[in-house]
Amino acid sequence: MIDGKATALRLRLQVGAEVSRLVAEHNLQPGLAVVLVGEDPASELYVRNKGRQTVEAGMLSREHKLAATVTEEQLLMLVGQLNDDPMVHGILVQLPLPEHIDEQRVLRTINPAKDVDGFHPVNVGGLATGDPAALAPCTPVGCLLMLIEQFDGDLSGKNAVIIGRSNIVGKPMAQLLLKESSTVTIAHSRTRDLPGICRGADIVVAAVGRPEMVRSDWIKPGAVVIDVGINRIQREGEEKAKLVGDVAFDEVVKVAGAITPVPGGVGPMTIACLLRNTVVAACRQVGVVCELD
Ligand code: NDP
Repeated sequence: MIDGKATALRLRLQVGAEVSRLVAEHNLQPGLAVVLVGEDPASELYVRNKGRQTVEAGMLSREHKLAATVTEEQLLMLVGQLNDDPMVHGILVQLPLPEHIDEQRVLRTINPAKDVDGFHPVNVGGLATGDPAALAPCTPVGCLLMLIEQFDGDLSGKNAVIIGRSNIVGKPMAQLLLKESSTVTIAHSRTRDLPGICRGADIVVAAVGRPEMVRSDWIKPGAVVIDVGINRIQREGEEKAKLVGDVAFDEVVKVAGAITPVPGGVGPMTIACLLRNTVVAACRQVGVVCELD
């Protein structure tokens, strides 16, 4: 089992050490501003966790909570203020946004240098064209770091199948693996013979949002399986709803060489990578060398 919690803790400790150095040597305290619109309980929990871990790493954390009725112009104005604020090096607007707000317009307004989520078209394009200055989205970066550790730093020539083609996970994951010289297949809802395609893979990344879809007979013995999915299900006879991934963990764990659990796999790595992106962004903005970059 790949212990995402432990890997994330190690990364957060590295981030914390780098923040201490930056404060001591350059009087630079990286700052992250998170904007939350509305009162979605899951988003509120993410934002709380992000804030707590940001402070624990010695960074400055700002939370901006806006009512679900906020206008697009008001939200854009706040993003503009954060763009201009020298104490803020990273800006994250928690998605999804209410329907009356144009998500893409908001993301495009964030200064790409402060876009620690890596969703601005400049960063998306930069990742696709191999620009080292591009900030890459945190969830796929977290997956990549765990894969690099599993394969002792060499993903070259590995057959990787990514299930899901979203802008947040599937597509950037493909770019990151391509950069590592893996042979990448992106599967989606129209893909034919998905089990057969997965059976040829050394790496399977599942980012679908369908509980326990990936079964053990889809997996080549020894393959590494990264489960991005977060699905809340209520089983008959069980009192409480349960979190499960896109992979049928109990059966796939018997076949896979390594697998991330849900919870405790990709989730903790996502926040740790957000902190890392913020520190990297802060250093670039003030022209200081970053040991995490
Ligand atoms: P999206 O809904 O944006 O994308 C899902 C993708 O899965 C789509 O490309 C869709 O294909 C594909 N898909 C749907 N059904 C099937 C199927 N039967 N066979 C093959 N492919 C299928 O989801 P996200 O990428 O945003 O998120 C995916 C999962 O990851 C969710 O459970 C989400 O909660 C979780 N997540 C977890 C994070 C973490 O930190 N751990 C962060 C982000 C997401 P098509 O394009 O054809 O519709």
